[in-house]
Amino acid sequence: MTTDYMCPHCNGHLRLDNHLILTVKHEDEAGMLLLMDPEIGNYQTIHHQSNSIRDGQKFEFYCPICHASLFSDLNENLVMVLMRDEKNKTFELHFSRIAGQKSTYKIMGKEIQTFGIDAPHYLDFLHLIDMS
Ligand SMILES: [Zn+2]
Repeated sequence: MTTDYMCPHCNGHLRLDNHLILTVKHEDEAGMLLLMDPEIGNYQTIHHQSNSIRDGQKFEFYCPICHASLFSDLNENLVMVLMRDEKNKTFELHFSRIAGQKSTYKIMGKEIQTFGIDAPHYLDFLHLIDMS
């Protein structure tokens, strides 16, 4: 059993094969599909060659199935999807919606694991105990 990702609103599956598939939109530009690596801490992404992503740009993230906003209620610069691991445990995965910012938080209850070199950036705001 592999790691699965789900939309917190419709529970739809966001992982196909080796991609986490999301819809993103920067300001008033057209939206686009973004393929992310399902391995936590791997920040490689794939998008269509006609679109561009520059570091520092802040994107809105949406579920490609139900189109709900994937905002995180922990911080306005984070977004959230559900993650189910090999042991069938479900976590909240919060990560930065700012291009180039490597900060990811895997949260279950009061426990948090952090990933990415920019993770300390938001830790103070989360008021959770770092168990990583
Ligand atoms: Zn959805």
